[in-house]
Amino acid sequence: MRVAFLGMGIMGRSMAANLVKAGHEVAIWNRSSGKDVEGARTAASPADAAMGAEAVWMCLSDTKAVEGVLFGPGGMEQVLTAGMIIADSSTISPSATRRFAERVKTRGVDYVDAPMTGSKIAAEAGSLIFMAGGDDAVLARLQPLFQAMGKQVFHMGETSKGQATKLVMNLQIALIYEGFAEALTLAAKLGVDVEKLLPLIQASMVRSGVVDYKAPFILKRDFSPNFPLRLMLKDIRLALDAAKESRVRLPGLEAVEEVYDVAAEEGQQDLDYASTLTLLEKWAGVEVKAAPK
Ligand code: NAP
Repeated sequence: MRVAFLGMGIMGRSMAANLVKAGHEVAIWNRSSGKDVEGARTAASPADAAMGAEAVWMCLSDTKAVEGVLFGPGGMEQVLTAGMIIADSSTISPSATRRFAERVKTRGVDYVDAPMTGSKIAAEAGSLIFMAGGDDAVLARLQPLFQAMGKQVFHMGETSKGQATKLVMNLQIALIYEGFAEALTLAAKLGVDVEKLLPLIQASMVRSGVVDYKAPFILKRDFSPNFPLRLMLKDIRLALDAAKESRVRLPGLEAVEEVYDVAAEEGQQDLDYASTLTLLEKWAGVEVKAAPK
């Protein structure tokens, strides 16, 4: 297929590279220069990338970025043609997604929200899991692209239900990781060896994919961004906004937001969200590390 891919960040660049690998004709665009993808055409603007494309895929930071790329100066609105599909793998507001979809519908363009889970490693491996919102027939047309970038697509309902689901998923990741990080901090303070604790966690009903993914990085004290803290904080706020709009109380997530707020104030926003552990360690006066052998 002829595809435009907008946003060459941690996730988008690997996703675009996997589309090229699968034989699609790809044009890429990124706000800042220097993030090319071998085998893809680098476009000068979102409109330039989208010109003549059958599908335009976005993977951008937040709601404002998606709105700008769609409808701002140099945005793709000017080149929309009937029959085109816009797919968005950014994590953004479900209500804004509905507005964007309605606006492009007037031009005969279908809109699918397809946020994903899997982080950097799955983006590189082409094994992302997508949660999509949109019409069955439109999703079917995107199948070759989903296949090139991921291993599974969960169809959650109409447009915006993918984003709503993503917020529900990241709410859980934030709370599970907070539980893990608080447990590690208390364990360190009580003198429990983390290398003995980890296999116990994973052998018990406490086990989780979050621990599988994050524990190796923690043991290496590697907090370079797989999923930057600033983006998890954005998702926590999106979930709290959605909860407020629908009159739901989320006291656990509200408490976790405070931890992320302080971590961001302390300059950790571009580190991985796993680095919130270091704040807990600082408060406790300990460091989580393997006991000397
Ligand atoms: P990232 O590395 O920070 O990349 C963000 C991308 O958005 C970059 O291409 C950036 O361009 C672009 N951008 C930011 N503001 C913009 C604006 N105002 N106008 C145009 N472009 C703008 O983020 P990422 O980790 O790839 O994540 C992208 C999206 O996927 C986010 O919504 C995130 O929540 C979601 N997500 C991430 C993960 C993960 O583990 N990383 C997993 C699932 C979902 P520049 O290069 O010019 O800054």
